[in-house]
Amino acid sequence: MKTWKVKKTYSRGYALGPARIIEKKEIRTVYDKITGDNITAEIKRFDEAVEEGCRELMELSGKSEIFAAHAALASDIALREGVENKIKDKLMCAEEALLETSGEFVFIFESMEDEYMRERAADMKDVCERLLTILSGENENPFEGIEEKSIIIARELTPSDTAKMNLKLVAGFVMELGGATSHVSIMAKNLGIPCLTGAEGVLKGVKDKDFIIMDAGAGEIFAEPSKDLIEEYEEKAGKWREEEKRLRESAGLPSLTKDGIRFELCANAGNPEEVRGAAEYEIDGIGLFRSEFLYMGSDHFPTEEEQFFAYKEAACLLKDKELTIRTLDIGGDKELKYWQLPKEENPFLGYRAIRICLKEPDIFKPQLRAILRAGAFGNVRIMYPMITSVEEIREANKILEQCKKELEEEGIPYKKDIQTGIMIETPAAVMIAEELAKEADFFSIGTNDLTQYFLAADRGNEKVAEIYNSYHPSVLRAIAATIRAAHKQGIKAGMCGEFASDEKAAVLLLGMGLDEFSMSAGEISRVKSRLRETDYKEAKETADNILSKGSVTEVINCLI
Ligand code: PEP
Ligand code: MG
Repeated sequence: MKTWKVKKTYSRGYALGPARIIEKKEIRTVYDKITGDNITAEIKRFDEAVEEGCRELMELSGKSEIFAAHAALASDIALREGVENKIKDKLMCAEEALLETSGEFVFIFESMEDEYMRERAADMKDVCERLLTILSGENENPFEGIEEKSIIIARELTPSDTAKMNLKLVAGFVMELGGATSHVSIMAKNLGIPCLTGAEGVLKGVKDKDFIIMDAGAGEIFAEPSKDLIEEYEEKAGKWREEEKRLRESAGLPSLTKDGIRFELCANAGNPEEVRGAAEYEIDGIGLFRSEFLYMGSDHFPTEEEQFFAYKEAACLLKDKELTIRTLDIGGDKELKYWQLPKEENPFLGYRAIRICLKEPDIFKPQLRAILRAGAFGNVRIMYPMITSVEEIREANKILEQCKKELEEEGIPYKKDIQTGIMIETPAAVMIAEELAKEADFFSIGTNDLTQYFLAADRGNEKVAEIYNSYHPSVLRAIAATIRAAHKQGIKAGMCGEFASDEKAAVLLLGMGLDEFSMSAGEISRVKSRLRETDYKEAKETADNILSKGSVTEVINCLI
């Protein structure tokens, strides 16, 4: 038996079955030169291939949003220009000019630090492959001939590849390349197919039709396993499939409790690609867009234009669903390579988030302007992090008003009535929640920080991990008080900290009256299914009872 272990996994579940090795035909890289007489015809051939490619992609866009993005890449002006110049100046044929120009794009994307941008390289390769196939007139399907449910093993799979396969015959995916946000990972997650990426060396060790077991949660792959191991995993896989079936059954159903109370489910995201992945789930919107990832993934402060582009893309993907963009939350454990913050004794208690933004209008204003402008394209809201006082909201809103005035004078469209909410993640904010609720349009409770500040236990320190517990009565009472204060002032209270995705906590939070639950997209169906099975009145009684308890142990014993 051969085994492999993948370091990082983004998937769950088990698959057992024969391996199908997918080897794609190498793209031909040696081409004949053209003559000066053929230039116009060659450019025309390229334009026609793009037209045909876009037509195919728009047809596929019903299957996944990614294909609409591919159509935009295929018809990109810079790509067209690069190809045209190479045909004209270097007398390259359309194929060679395309291969070289797209190679330049891929090189730029791959050399970027940001994982999201790096994975755009895969999109560019996919678009290039599609156009080359059209130009060559060949149309081979590497998945032809698969007749039984198999585990697909490949170096890398593009969205166009996955569009060609019969997914009913796919038990699992194992790929040597790719990461959490690669298209196959997202698609597999949505379809409940176990998927492992980064499985280096698998292609060398596995032969077509070898029997494979994959444990996606543990990141393990076994080739040619023993009978006993097969039996053990068949049992695990059976249980997992039953649980998945139960979750999927509730996926298309309304977000209502057993007694008909509506709850909102949103996703957390860090970039437009994650928004795209989340948009494929049934969500009410994005409850937390962590804008700092745009900053951390760049080698300079993202300009207003760069941010506008990213926020607008996210807003358009969501159509009329809400997109809550949290303003820059750096400091603490989040650093920027290109902007050295002063060394601090206690960075989590220091210069971070809104504190930086209020002191640095040159950083804050381009972001606010970009968000306001993106607001003209969708249902965008602003959220300020790490608020501890009424003055901070007023100050931030004052800067926001200045930005609106500037945009008005410049004649640039923006969202005039944009909502501004705040994160409740400090004890100070909890204690003055009623006053804050008069200044804010909504609350979102950040239990990741709230827990560390309430319990004086660093969220990233293993040594105090046992103390850091959001079920601590102090944290639960803080959450309940925040929700009460919000409702008293007629605004909604959501939660975007990890606690919202804990199924048992979600029942408790529902009972406390939480309006919106925001979490990683992959957790939503689990929480939804649990809340749909819950009776609101019962959850409320349990919450009231739990809020009277004085220790974590007592709280845990009362959970339903
Ligand atoms: C939180 O603190 O709960 C939160 C959602 O923000 P972050 O984890 O990004 O600090
Ligand atoms: Mg936080």
